Amino acid sequence: MNDAQPSLATPYRTHTCGQLRVSDAGGPARLAGWVHRRRDHGQLIFIDLRDRHGITQVVIDKADAPDAHATASRVRSEFVVAVGGEVAPRLPGTENATLPTGGIELRATSVEILSEARTPPFYINEPDAPVDETLRLKYRYLDIRRQPMTERLQLRSRLVQAIREVHHRNGFVEIETPTLIKSTPEGARDFIVPSRLQPGAVYALPQSPQQLKQLLMVAGMDRYFQIARCYRDEDLRGDRQPEFTQLDLEMSFVDEETVMAFVESMVIDVSRTTAPDRPIAQVPFPRFTYVEAMDRFGSDKPDVRFGMELVDLGNRLVGADGVPASGFRVFDDALTSGGTVKAIVAPGMAGISRRELDDLTERARRFGAKGLAHLSLEVGGEIRGPITKFLDEDMTRAVIEGTGAGEGDLVLIVADRASVTADVLGRLRVELGERLGLADPDVLAYAWVHRFPMYQWDAEGERWDATHNPFSGVLPEDEPLLTTTSGDPARPSPEDPAGRARAMQYDLAVNGWELGGGSIRIHRRELLELSFRLQGQTIEGMRERFGAILDAFEFGAPPHGGIALGIDRWAMVLARQTNIREVMAFPKTQSGTDPMLEAPSAPEPAQLEELGLRFVGATGKGS
Ligand code: ASP
Repeated sequence: MNDAQPSLATPYRTHTCGQLRVSDAGGPARLAGWVHRRRDHGQLIFIDLRDRHGITQVVIDKADAPDAHATASRVRSEFVVAVGGEVAPRLPGTENATLPTGGIELRATSVEILSEARTPPFYINEPDAPVDETLRLKYRYLDIRRQPMTERLQLRSRLVQAIREVHHRNGFVEIETPTLIKSTPEGARDFIVPSRLQPGAVYALPQSPQQLKQLLMVAGMDRYFQIARCYRDEDLRGDRQPEFTQLDLEMSFVDEETVMAFVESMVIDVSRTTAPDRPIAQVPFPRFTYVEAMDRFGSDKPDVRFGMELVDLGNRLVGADGVPASGFRVFDDALTSGGTVKAIVAPGMAGISRRELDDLTERARRFGAKGLAHLSLEVGGEIRGPITKFLDEDMTRAVIEGTGAGEGDLVLIVADRASVTADVLGRLRVELGERLGLADPDVLAYAWVHRFPMYQWDAEGERWDATHNPFSGVLPEDEPLLTTTSGDPARPSPEDPAGRARAMQYDLAVNGWELGGGSIRIHRRELLELSFRLQGQTIEGMRERFGAILDAFEFGAPPHGGIALGIDRWAMVLARQTNIREVMAFPKTQSGTDPMLEAPSAPEPAQLEELGLRFVGATGKGS
């Protein structure tokens, strides 16, 4: 709500429903909006009139305005009405401190029904009433009338406005790129659109404008940004949708530091403008290498609002000769076979019940662990837990000491392959952090993770796959590592030095969510060629997928790099939500459908014919 919005006056209204104050008392006003609530006291009818700016109490007195009173007695919830009259201070004692307009009411002399309404399928005037999400999506226009959605969409609008302003202030050019393009793979499945004019050919919807923004750098646009719609045909989760919006940007003549510095200052500026009540936990944002993030938090999108970091117990579990000798086979086997044994400390949880422990173990199993060991350090100093049967007392003490646990704390231990140990403890850490109230819901804890590995070994394809983007650059000091033990980049193996090369890739996390990521790109053709060959591709093979950009790189490509941040996720975190659907006007359900528009739907037979298409073996709506 904003008092300074006189321009919202129209022939239907002089003010919005959130605008009138005691200082307006004595003057005339006309309001238009939806009937939020109506209370009929016989002689007096009260209407709470609502628009997206707020609610104003309207009172119609039969003695003063019999016609208006007669009309008001016909209105029902969600009717659209226009009312006119005089602004009056409320009687002392009847003010409503919870409403910005609560000091006044409009004494109406005219009431006009602009539109009638059926009884809505759910209460619009009870923002906290639980409503089935499918019903909300089917009647999204009614759901958006409810205060929480109204506020969230307005917050999102402020977010995008703030983003645009910072970029324009910093010399960026906003450029739209097309939606009907050729595939730009980001690791997901493409949505495709058959072409009528080119029978047998398809467009792909962009998974991101990646190639186009790089081409804009070759075009000399230097600093580009876009609020870009992206499409990825993946299985949906709470924070995924088939179409979503990215803040996409790219800059020329930059290194990693330049991009990260701009993005960091932009994110701070945008956060403070959009959500001034949310403190930013740490500035400058903490930076972790990928290895460090995995070691300490078991995640490449660490929630740094709280500690509870993973502790490596490996060196506590070995004998003087360095050989694993804890006495507990699960630990020793994990270490002997090159795995890790790590722990987290859950403060104050030593006393949890058997059932809660079983529950934690079950969760750990679901996350991929074979089991979950625990030790509780009771108040008084006694250490309990089934594994004390196997570890001798000194070893048990050493383990507890290694974790830094205090009296009353619970130590949870996973022994497995390094990646499993990290992932399982990382997830338990996040769950327990929430459960124990360690993660302050108010703060925004942004954190960078960078120095990702360039490649991961694809055992099936016997090649190195780019971990992020085939154009991500290698750290200059790691460039010599882009070799294979065979000496031939076309004959890679998992032992290649290339597996140790680190990318100039940086991801930004907030409160444990991945907000986005980007990289400095390879702009030199010979390096790109080498990187492609390690990925089992030839320039010719890549030309099929990335022809335009490979051509463009022969015409003078500036060093460049960029990033993309998920706007839906950002808005979600700023709005204190955990599901991006809550910050999207018209999202899809988990199964990718829109219950309001009933999309997707079967095409007209004529459409299929025009496109020269036939569905084969389809059983859904399209058959
Ligand atoms: N195109 C990348 C993505 O969508 C972001 C980038 O590297 O700029 O994740």
